[in-house]
Amino acid sequence: MPAYDPNNIFAKILRGEMPSYKVYEDDKVLAFLDIMPRAPGHTLVLPKASARNILDVSPDDFAAVAKAGQKIAKAAMKVFNADGITIQQFNEGAGGQVVFHLHLHVIPRKTGVPMKPPASEKEKPDVLSDHALKLSAALKDG
Ligand code: 5GP
Repeated sequence: MPAYDPNNIFAKILRGEMPSYKVYEDDKVLAFLDIMPRAPGHTLVLPKASARNILDVSPDDFAAVAKAGQKIAKAAMKVFNADGITIQQFNEGAGGQVVFHLHLHVIPRKTGVPMKPPASEKEKPDVLSDHALKLSAALKDG
């Protein structure tokens, strides 16, 4: 497996060199909206530690991502009036991974509404701001 590349886009977001629509942060995890959501509220949950994917992440960091992902899934059910949540996590190109810093996709779903294809359409900034605000507020409320 190739080495972790510190110049990947998510590493730049984690270092604050690129902006993101943040929804959650703790000492081990950062979560922000996918800018090309497959459904409204599509969130990416990352370990702050450098990890390419499930094959090199520490079990503790992976557990922290899973824990945050569960919190976000519960909050997203309410905020987006969802009927379900799809969780995705891809590893290496053959596994569907495009950005090589580990991330969990948390995707709110409505009955009968298919997900858009991956990276098909960039969402408008005002929509992303609104969704990030609502989701982060719901997460703070508990
Ligand atoms: P994966 O690596 O799991 O296949 O997918 C990477 C995901 O990152 C895609 O869903 C894509 O829409 C998202 N993405 C790509 N570039 C950016 C970016 O600059 N900012 C954010 N927030 N998401 C991105």
